[in-house]
Amino acid sequence: MPRSLKVVLSLVLLAVLAGWTLRHENLVAPNPTTPPTINPIPPVEPARSLLAPLGSAPDWKKLEAYQHTIRRQDFEVLMTETFTTGNAWKSFITLTDEEALIVTDPVKPDSVFRLAFAQPGKEATPTRHWRPGDLLPAAPEGKPLSGLKIAIDPGHIGGAWAQMEERWFSVEGGPPVCEGDLTLKVAQLLKPRLESLGASVSLVRSTNEPLTPLRPADLLSEAPSEGDPRKLAERLFYRTAEIRARAELVNLTLKPDLVLCLHFNAEPWGNANAPTLVERSHFHLLLNGGYTDEEVALEDQRFELLRKLLQRTHEEEARIGIEVAAAFYSATGLPPYHYKAEALNARTVQGNPFLWARNLLANRLYDCPVIYLEPYVMNSRTDYARIQAGDYEGVREIEGRPSPSIFREYADALATGLASHYRKIRPRP
Ligand SMILES: [Zn+2]
Repeated sequence: MPRSLKVVLSLVLLAVLAGWTLRHENLVAPNPTTPPTINPIPPVEPARSLLAPLGSAPDWKKLEAYQHTIRRQDFEVLMTETFTTGNAWKSFITLTDEEALIVTDPVKPDSVFRLAFAQPGKEATPTRHWRPGDLLPAAPEGKPLSGLKIAIDPGHIGGAWAQMEERWFSVEGGPPVCEGDLTLKVAQLLKPRLESLGASVSLVRSTNEPLTPLRPADLLSEAPSEGDPRKLAERLFYRTAEIRARAELVNLTLKPDLVLCLHFNAEPWGNANAPTLVERSHFHLLLNGGYTDEEVALEDQRFELLRKLLQRTHEEEARIGIEVAAAFYSATGLPPYHYKAEALNARTVQGNPFLWARNLLANRLYDCPVIYLEPYVMNSRTDYARIQAGDYEGVREIEGRPSPSIFREYADALATGLASHYRKIRPRP
């Protein structure tokens, strides 16, 4: 092929990948009515175009720690049934009986990382700073979480940032619902509960201020050129830079055995000052997985997927998630939320209706098992009334039903599920 054609093809590939990058995590809503335009010289920097927003090039040598830790069959099953939703990974990862040949940078076709598979029965233990429950020592009576390091990540920022985050609504001028304030309230109730069960607990955020020193104005130059640059810079701030700052704290300082990402779900509410209230509420838990073809094509996400898979976080997340889901169901009776099959960004987990594998920035970047909770629907009539009732002891009649505080119910169900899991999995004293 003539050299000039190669250059053009590379540029087209870069343009396509850059488009994927921007659409990832909804920085730019896809617009099906606009025909694609291909500039002969697209305005992308090759070094950044294969990465997720604000991502940096991975150090592939870090995967050396996982040589001979997994059998080919286990690798393939995890890859096809949990971690991906399409087949694009096969363009980047070739499996032989002995190894996985992983393309690191598709623009340089000879850049391949070779991961050797383990012989059955001879799997080496993967390197990781977190400890799975079955490798913890026996726990004293009544302290099933003893020695366990847990980081609680209250989702979003809340406070003065809640409107910018679009996690804010107010019904008829009433006290606003700010998701970031609700998750912080649950975190503050949850921490002493987990500590009384023996865990050492840290909060990734304990105020309504962001961890990242960056602000939207600092990110204007990073915002994609299509769309409203101000809005896109804001999203880069609260959705991307903030989570990356939290991941740095979790991975470099806290180094927990488990992260709990607390959220409240919602249905589309339309106008935040005249929101739609719905009748139904539901809940589900998210584990890391379900990478789309576009995400697998990004070098940093491909690396992060492999680090998750090789650390065997999925198995640990599923074991914990099953117990936590059971505890939530028994406490709340909420039905499961169901992703549409055509969404192509979620996988079911072990047929459990409450567990879904999805690739979110937080559950991908935190370098340990992550349970990401999405209970309740903030704009459902009943949950809205419970949120407005605030935190209280005991039960109160709300919408005709005796109900505990929604914040305590959340914290208690989560603590109960974790206690039940670790009680089962840890050796007896
Ligand atoms: Zn949320």
